[in-house]
Amino acid sequence: MGEQYKLVARETKPQGTKVRIGGVEVGGAEFIVMAGPCAVESDHQIRNTAERVRAAGARILRGGAFKPRTSPYSFQGLGEEGLKLLAAAGRATGLPVVTEVLTAEDVKLVAGYADALQVGARNMQNFALLKALGSAGRPIVLKRGLSSTIEELLMAAEYVCLHGNPHVILCERGIRTFETATRNTLDFNAVAVLKQFTHLPIIVDPSHGTGRRNLVGPVSKAAAAIGADGLIIEVHPEPETALSDGPQSLTPTEFSAIMRELAAHLALQGRPLAVGAGSCDVGGIDAHRERIDSIDEALVNLLCERVRIAIELGRLKRDMGYPIQSTERETVVVERAKRLSEGVFEPSAIGRLFRAIIEETRASEECHAVTTK
Ligand code: PEP
Ligand code: MN
Repeated sequence: MGEQYKLVARETKPQGTKVRIGGVEVGGAEFIVMAGPCAVESDHQIRNTAERVRAAGARILRGGAFKPRTSPYSFQGLGEEGLKLLAAAGRATGLPVVTEVLTAEDVKLVAGYADALQVGARNMQNFALLKALGSAGRPIVLKRGLSSTIEELLMAAEYVCLHGNPHVILCERGIRTFETATRNTLDFNAVAVLKQFTHLPIIVDPSHGTGRRNLVGPVSKAAAAIGADGLIIEVHPEPETALSDGPQSLTPTEFSAIMRELAAHLALQGRPLAVGAGSCDVGGIDAHRERIDSIDEALVNLLCERVRIAIELGRLKRDMGYPIQSTERETVVVERAKRLSEGVFEPSAIGRLFRAIIEETRASEECHAVTTK
């Protein structure tokens, strides 16, 4: 398989690639969420969406100006006017912008306005476009074709790299299968497989992957769990009036709720959700508080589970005639916590926290031992 693509193969760069869009790094330690409407429709619509998604923690603004529509009678996008509105909304909010380019001829025009260029699913094997993107001078978000294999996706990425542009992010956005309950079938295997086969970052598009707004939340969490580097999500201030992809677009409020849940899920994996740089407003404060609430919930759940396991352990120790307390073991636990939290916590601070947890866990254990005697 490695014969067909070389530059993008994992072996070429085992440590992985980080792709910079504006000042935002995709493929690094932080999980990056790109969000915005399917299509730029008006100045008000894109600015409003940009402000709301930024406040919720999105780091990159999306919005189509040239739309590849299945029907020629559907809204085709605002073209260059849409690019101008998108770039202005990006400047106003401090968010870099990503937008689709449909043809090789348009690459220069779109690159003049956008921080990253998206290749849509229907264009994944438009080889003239892929070659032109080699000299676009902008990073590329390359979406998997509706009926393309993972190997074909990698070969498409190889085209862009071979022609001079190594800054490629892959995007799993669902493929066509016999299933009709959802718009597409999101191939989670692809994310895990791509992580093994290539060093390029991989993001997931849960909006096109499902076609239904109430599936975007669970699928986003699954994408984070399986190791995606980020997400691209459609958000519209009034999805019911959207000129394209309304049924899969989230309201800004729904989007915030998903970001809040994602923060806790990612924290469990030790991966931070990127925090928006420019959230200096009330919405930003609320969003941060909501994330803290969500993390506290996860923290309490973990502490409860820790106590449950400790009680079981206590039972085993008693049955085997071991003492309940082991000071050596406690020291190992505390020292490990210090190592894991290096750079964030003062060692003495995490030490105090863990001593308290250990003590309270033991108290629960002992209390349980008494009540179950
Ligand atoms: C889009 O992102 O709006 C889009 C058209 O996506 P895809 O190419 O994945 O269908
Ligand atoms: Mn869309």
